[in-house]
Amino acid sequence: MNLRDRIRVLKEDRDAVILAHNYQRPEIQDIADIVGDSLELAVSAKETGASVIVVCGVDFMAETAKILNPGKTVLLPVKDATCPMAHQLTPDIIREARTAHPDASVVLYVNSTAESKALADIVCTSANAVKVVRSLGTREVLFGPDCNLAAYVQNLVPEKEIIPIPPEGHCYVHDAFTLDDIAEARKRGGTIICHPECRPEIQNGADVVASTGGMVRAAPDAEAWNVLTEREMGYRLKSLFPGKTFYTKEEAICEDMKKITLHALCRSLETMQYEITLDPEIATRARTAIDRMIAIGR
Ligand code: SF4
Repeated sequence: MNLRDRIRVLKEDRDAVILAHNYQRPEIQDIADIVGDSLELAVSAKETGASVIVVCGVDFMAETAKILNPGKTVLLPVKDATCPMAHQLTPDIIREARTAHPDASVVLYVNSTAESKALADIVCTSANAVKVVRSLGTREVLFGPDCNLAAYVQNLVPEKEIIPIPPEGHCYVHDAFTLDDIAEARKRGGTIICHPECRPEIQNGADVVASTGGMVRAAPDAEAWNVLTEREMGYRLKSLFPGKTFYTKEEAICEDMKKITLHALCRSLETMQYEITLDPEIATRARTAIDRMIAIGR
């Protein structure tokens, strides 16, 4: 039996659902039951009827699935598949910022650890960050861990003061796009769409700024796109819109997302590893912050 068939059989045996982020390898996207951005995965994790949830993504995504499904088994196929940006924000940084800004709300990007989420008032994704911040009653907002997403929100919500925590938190994949990439795309032609984790000058130079879910929704609007985000998003878009052209940057790779392979996924279903476990108190507090975001929607 080949690897793909073995995964399908094991999936049935385990009563498992496979969730994959848009940045996963093509073969993982192809075998997954649901492919999406962080919000789509969080919502589908909450709605699934399966008893086992396998998250093909990085650790904070698996933690989010576990927080929303405390009674289910949640597996991350590779133990050290993590998001370096999420770990740039620690609970101590949040506590210190709260002390310095006692009237501020704390909004954390879903790309944060469960311990950090437990200290947030509300969570957001790049798809709903603006809506989440606008929904708050306070003028000051502590926002972490991505300073580029914070700048994007500040631009669209000028009536509030967005304070990034930590001041320079960023995703190394998106932060590496430069104005040369914009110039190259302009020469090539096509619409330029970038993720809000890119630097402000890249956001200003692009035609559209959107989350990966937003990129899927925007795709019908043009025939050719320059997609400034992790490379595998091009595969996702091409699968959904085969008649259109999507240019991506070869070097824009999230190494941790690529740790999940078919072999790792198969082994995970065979051995039921690596199971996500969380401190119940942290999970309950983090859940309140995530549920608030889900109630607000996209
Ligand atoms: S692409 Fe960036 S933000 Fe997303 S998981 Fe990788 S390092 Fe983290």
